[in-house]
Amino acid sequence: MYHHIKKLMFTVRVGESDPRFGNMLLEQFGGANGELAAAMQYSIQGINCDDPACKDLLMDIGTEELSHLEVVGTLARMHLKPMKKLNIDTAAEDPLIAIAGGGGVSLCNSMGNAWTADYLKITGELDVDLRSNIAAEARAKIVYERLINLCDDRGTKEALQFLMTREITHLKAFMQALDSVTNDKLVIVQIPPTPRIVDQFYNTSTGEGDEGAEDTTGPWNNCDDIEVINSPALSEFQVTSATPKAGKTKLNGNGNGRSRKPKSRTKQ
Ligand code: MN
Ligand code: MN
Repeated sequence: MYHHIKKLMFTVRVGESDPRFGNMLLEQFGGANGELAAAMQYSIQGINCDDPACKDLLMDIGTEELSHLEVVGTLARMHLKPMKKLNIDTAAEDPLIAIAGGGGVSLCNSMGNAWTADYLKITGELDVDLRSNIAAEARAKIVYERLINLCDDRGTKEALQFLMTREITHLKAFMQALDSVTNDKLVIVQIPPTPRIVDQFYNTSTGEGDEGAEDTTGPWNNCDDIEVINSPALSEFQVTSATPKAGKTKLNGNGNGRSRKPKSRTKQ
Protein backbone atom coordinates (compact mmCIF):
# COMPACT_ATOMS: atom_id res chain seq x y z
CA MET A 1 0.00 0.00 0.00
CA TYR A 2 1.10 3.53 -0.53
CA HIS A 3 0.93 6.47 1.81
CA HIS A 4 1.82 10.04 1.03
CA ILE A 5 3.60 12.22 3.59
CA LYS A 6 3.63 15.95 2.96
CA LYS A 7 7.39 16.24 2.89
CA LEU A 8 9.85 15.98 0.05
CA MET A 9 12.68 13.47 0.32
CA PHE A 10 14.99 16.40 -0.48
CA THR A 11 14.08 20.00 0.29
CA VAL A 12 13.88 21.85 -3.00
CA ARG A 13 14.96 25.48 -3.19
CA VAL A 14 15.14 27.40 -6.43
CA GLY A 15 16.84 30.82 -6.52
CA GLU A 16 15.93 31.94 -9.99
CA SER A 17 13.50 29.98 -12.10
CA ASP A 18 14.35 29.22 -15.71
CA PRO A 19 11.51 27.76 -17.79
CA ARG A 20 13.95 26.46 -20.41
CA PHE A 21 15.70 24.42 -17.74
CA GLY A 22 12.36 23.35 -16.27
CA ASN A 23 11.51 21.89 -19.64
CA MET A 24 14.79 19.95 -19.71
CA LEU A 25 14.00 18.58 -16.24
CA LEU A 26 10.91 16.90 -17.67
CA GLU A 27 13.30 14.35 -19.16
CA GLN A 28 13.67 12.98 -15.62
CA PHE A 29 9.93 13.30 -14.91
CA GLY A 30 8.19 11.71 -17.89
CA GLY A 31 11.18 10.67 -20.02
CA ALA A 32 12.54 7.26 -21.00
CA ASN A 33 15.12 7.20 -18.20
CA GLY A 34 13.13 9.30 -15.78
CA GLU A 35 11.80 8.69 -12.31
CA LEU A 36 8.32 7.46 -13.28
CA ALA A 37 9.86 4.86 -15.56
CA ALA A 38 12.20 3.74 -12.78
CA ALA A 39 9.41 3.65 -10.18
CA MET A 40 7.12 1.61 -12.42
CA GLN A 41 9.84 -0.74 -13.69
CA TYR A 42 11.07 -1.75 -10.23
CA SER A 43 7.63 -1.87 -8.59
CA ILE A 44 6.14 -4.08 -11.31
CA GLN A 45 9.23 -6.30 -11.26
CA GLY A 46 8.73 -6.49 -7.49
CA ILE A 47 5.16 -7.69 -7.94
CA ASN A 48 6.49 -10.43 -10.23
CA CYS A 49 9.38 -11.43 -7.95
CA ASP A 50 9.34 -14.72 -5.99
CA ASP A 51 12.64 -14.12 -4.18
CA PRO A 52 11.63 -12.45 -0.89
CA ALA A 53 14.88 -10.50 -0.43
CA CYS A 54 14.96 -9.15 -4.00
CA LYS A 55 11.23 -8.43 -3.92
CA ASP A 56 11.80 -6.27 -0.86
CA LEU A 57 14.72 -4.50 -2.59
CA LEU A 58 12.68 -3.85 -5.74
CA MET A 59 9.76 -2.45 -3.74
CA ASP A 60 12.09 -0.31 -1.60
CA ILE A 61 13.82 1.25 -4.59
CA GLY A 62 10.63 1.44 -6.68
CA THR A 63 8.97 3.39 -3.90
CA GLU A 64 12.01 5.63 -3.43
CA GLU A 65 11.84 6.46 -7.14
CA LEU A 66 8.28 7.72 -6.61
CA SER A 67 9.70 10.09 -4.02
CA HIS A 68 12.28 11.17 -6.60
CA LEU A 69 9.45 11.77 -9.06
CA GLU A 70 7.90 14.10 -6.51
CA VAL A 71 11.19 15.97 -6.00
CA VAL A 72 11.99 16.37 -9.70
CA GLY A 73 8.36 17.28 -10.47
CA THR A 74 8.37 19.94 -7.76
CA LEU A 75 11.66 21.27 -9.08
CA ALA A 76 10.43 21.37 -12.67
CA ARG A 77 7.22 23.06 -11.56
CA MET A 78 9.21 25.80 -9.79
CA HIS A 79 11.18 26.46 -12.97
CA LEU A 80 8.14 26.35 -15.25
CA LYS A 81 5.78 28.39 -13.10
CA PRO A 82 6.56 31.75 -14.78
CA MET A 83 4.99 30.29 -17.93
CA LYS A 84 1.65 30.58 -16.16
CA LYS A 85 1.71 34.32 -16.75
CA LEU A 86 1.01 34.25 -20.42
CA ASN A 87 2.52 36.62 -22.87
CA ILE A 88 2.87 35.97 -26.54
CA ASP A 89 6.65 35.61 -26.48
CA THR A 90 6.97 33.10 -23.64
CA ALA A 91 3.91 31.17 -24.80
CA ALA A 92 5.30 30.94 -28.33
CA GLU A 93 8.55 29.54 -26.93
CA ASP A 94 6.79 26.55 -25.41
CA PRO A 95 3.08 26.34 -26.21
CA LEU A 96 2.79 22.85 -24.74
CA ILE A 97 3.80 24.04 -21.29
CA ALA A 98 2.26 27.52 -21.51
CA ILE A 99 -1.03 26.94 -23.34
CA ALA A 100 -1.80 23.29 -22.72
CA GLY A 101 -0.07 22.87 -19.37
CA GLY A 102 -0.51 26.25 -17.66
CA GLY A 103 3.10 26.31 -16.47
CA GLY A 104 2.77 22.92 -14.79
CA VAL A 105 4.38 19.55 -15.31
CA SER A 106 2.83 16.71 -17.22
CA LEU A 107 4.06 13.23 -17.98
CA CYS A 108 6.02 14.15 -21.07
CA ASN A 109 9.69 14.22 -21.86
CA SER A 110 11.59 17.41 -22.70
CA MET A 111 10.34 17.25 -26.30
CA GLY A 112 6.69 16.89 -25.30
CA ASN A 113 6.43 13.18 -26.08
CA ALA A 114 4.00 11.44 -23.75
CA TRP A 115 5.34 8.93 -21.21
CA THR A 116 4.78 5.35 -22.27
CA ALA A 117 4.95 1.94 -20.59
CA ASP A 118 7.05 0.93 -23.60
CA TYR A 119 9.97 2.47 -21.69
CA LEU A 120 9.78 -0.33 -19.12
CA LYS A 121 11.96 -3.44 -19.22
CA ILE A 122 10.18 -6.21 -17.34
CA THR A 123 10.89 -9.82 -18.26
CA GLY A 124 9.68 -11.75 -15.21
CA GLU A 125 13.17 -13.28 -14.85
CA LEU A 126 14.91 -11.79 -11.84
CA ASP A 127 18.55 -11.83 -12.97
CA VAL A 128 17.63 -10.47 -16.40
CA ASP A 129 15.55 -7.70 -14.82
CA LEU A 130 18.39 -6.82 -12.44
CA ARG A 131 20.71 -6.36 -15.42
CA SER A 132 18.16 -3.97 -16.98
CA ASN A 133 17.98 -2.08 -13.70
CA ILE A 134 21.76 -1.67 -13.49
CA ALA A 135 21.71 -0.16 -16.99
CA ALA A 136 18.69 2.02 -16.14
CA GLU A 137 20.47 3.48 -13.11
CA ALA A 138 23.54 4.27 -15.21
CA ARG A 139 21.31 6.09 -17.74
CA ALA A 140 19.55 8.05 -14.99
CA LYS A 141 22.96 9.02 -13.62
CA ILE A 142 24.26 10.40 -16.91
CA VAL A 143 21.06 12.40 -17.53
CA TYR A 144 21.30 13.98 -14.06
CA GLU A 145 24.96 14.79 -14.65
CA ARG A 146 24.15 16.54 -17.94
CA LEU A 147 21.38 18.51 -16.25
CA ILE A 148 23.73 19.56 -13.43
CA ASN A 149 26.25 20.77 -16.01
CA LEU A 150 23.58 22.89 -17.70
CA CYS A 151 22.40 24.59 -14.52
CA ASP A 152 23.70 27.58 -12.55
CA ASP A 153 21.13 27.70 -9.79
CA ARG A 154 22.64 26.44 -6.55
CA GLY A 155 19.49 24.99 -4.98
CA THR A 156 18.60 23.18 -8.19
CA LYS A 157 22.09 21.76 -8.51
CA GLU A 158 21.92 20.46 -4.92
CA ALA A 159 18.62 18.68 -5.51
CA LEU A 160 19.94 17.14 -8.72
CA GLN A 161 23.17 16.12 -6.97
CA PHE A 162 21.08 14.32 -4.33
CA LEU A 163 19.00 12.52 -6.96
CA MET A 164 22.09 11.61 -8.99
CA THR A 165 23.82 10.23 -5.90
CA ARG A 166 20.89 7.98 -5.07
CA GLU A 167 21.09 6.44 -8.55
CA ILE A 168 24.62 5.27 -7.78
CA THR A 169 23.37 3.79 -4.51
CA HIS A 170 20.69 1.92 -6.47
CA LEU A 171 23.18 0.84 -9.12
CA LYS A 172 25.33 -0.71 -6.40
CA ALA A 173 22.36 -2.41 -4.71
CA PHE A 174 21.21 -3.96 -8.00
CA MET A 175 24.77 -5.15 -8.72
CA GLN A 176 24.92 -6.75 -5.29
CA ALA A 177 21.50 -8.32 -5.79
CA LEU A 178 22.64 -9.77 -9.12
CA ASP A 179 25.74 -11.21 -7.42
CA SER A 180 23.49 -12.76 -4.78
CA VAL A 181 21.26 -14.58 -7.28
CA THR A 182 23.82 -15.79 -9.83
CA ASN A 183 27.21 -17.45 -9.61
CA ASP A 184 28.01 -17.12 -13.29
CA LYS A 185 26.78 -14.00 -15.07
CA LEU A 186 26.96 -15.77 -18.43
CA VAL A 187 24.35 -18.29 -17.33
CA ILE A 188 20.98 -16.86 -18.29
CA VAL A 189 18.07 -19.09 -17.31
CA GLN A 190 18.41 -22.73 -18.47
CA ILE A 191 19.31 -23.50 -22.06
CA PRO A 192 23.08 -23.29 -22.41
CA PRO A 193 24.69 -21.77 -25.46
CA THR A 194 26.13 -23.99 -28.20
CA PRO A 195 29.77 -24.87 -27.66
CA ARG A 196 32.29 -23.44 -30.11
CA ILE A 197 29.78 -20.98 -31.58
CA VAL A 198 29.67 -19.24 -28.22
CA ASP A 199 33.44 -18.74 -28.35
CA GLN A 200 33.60 -17.34 -31.87
CA PHE A 201 34.19 -13.67 -32.57
CA TYR A 202 32.88 -12.50 -35.94
CA ASN A 203 35.04 -9.71 -37.28
CA THR A 204 32.30 -8.21 -39.46
CA SER A 205 33.53 -4.61 -39.58
CA THR A 206 36.83 -4.60 -41.41
CA GLY A 207 39.08 -2.40 -43.52
CA GLU A 208 40.36 1.07 -42.82
CA GLY A 209 37.96 3.95 -42.31
CA ASP A 210 38.28 7.44 -43.80
CA GLU A 211 39.26 8.78 -40.39
CA GLY A 212 41.86 6.09 -39.86
CA ALA A 213 39.54 3.71 -38.03
CA GLU A 214 40.96 0.21 -38.11
CA ASP A 215 40.41 -3.28 -36.72
CA THR A 216 41.25 -3.32 -33.07
CA THR A 217 41.77 -6.01 -30.52
CA GLY A 218 40.54 -6.41 -26.97
CA PRO A 219 39.84 -9.22 -24.54
CA TRP A 220 36.74 -10.10 -26.61
CA ASN A 221 38.75 -11.10 -29.67
CA ASN A 222 42.26 -11.59 -28.41
CA CYS A 223 42.45 -14.46 -25.99
CA ASP A 224 43.12 -18.17 -26.21
CA ASP A 225 39.55 -19.37 -25.91
CA ILE A 226 38.21 -17.10 -28.66
CA GLU A 227 38.22 -18.13 -32.31
CA VAL A 228 38.23 -15.11 -34.60
CA ILE A 229 36.34 -15.48 -37.89
CA ASN A 230 37.47 -12.70 -40.19
CA SER A 231 34.98 -11.21 -42.66
CA PRO A 232 32.51 -14.11 -42.37
CA ALA A 233 30.24 -12.85 -45.17
CA LEU A 234 33.14 -12.39 -47.60
CA SER A 235 34.56 -15.83 -46.85
CA GLU A 236 31.21 -17.60 -47.28
CA PHE A 237 31.16 -18.54 -43.64
CA GLN A 238 27.95 -20.18 -42.49
CA VAL A 239 26.75 -21.89 -39.36
CA THR A 240 24.98 -25.09 -40.30
CA SER A 241 24.03 -26.47 -36.92
CA ALA A 242 23.62 -25.03 -33.43
CA THR A 243 22.69 -27.91 -31.20
CA PRO A 244 22.96 -27.10 -27.51
CA LYS A 245 25.17 -29.26 -25.34
CA ALA A 246 22.92 -29.54 -22.40
CA GLY A 247 21.93 -32.36 -20.26
CA LYS A 248 18.97 -30.19 -19.30
CA THR A 249 17.74 -29.68 -22.82
CA LYS A 250 15.81 -32.41 -24.56
CA LEU A 251 16.06 -32.27 -28.29
CA ASN A 252 13.64 -33.36 -30.93
CA GLY A 253 11.77 -35.46 -28.42
CA ASN A 254 14.40 -38.20 -28.30
CA GLY A 255 12.39 -39.54 -25.44
CA ASN A 256 15.02 -41.12 -23.24
CA GLY A 257 15.94 -37.87 -21.51
CA ARG A 258 19.51 -37.98 -22.81
CA SER A 259 20.71 -35.11 -24.84
CA ARG A 260 22.41 -35.49 -28.16
CA LYS A 261 26.11 -35.09 -28.51
CA PRO A 262 27.13 -31.53 -29.05
CA LYS A 263 27.11 -30.78 -32.71
CA SER A 264 28.34 -27.42 -33.80
CA ARG A 265 29.79 -27.27 -37.21
CA THR A 266 31.05 -24.23 -38.93
CA LYS A 267 32.09 -23.96 -42.50
CA GLN A 268 34.57 -21.34 -43.63
MN1 MN B 1 15.67 8.10 -9.05
MN1 MN C 1 17.39 4.90 -9.08
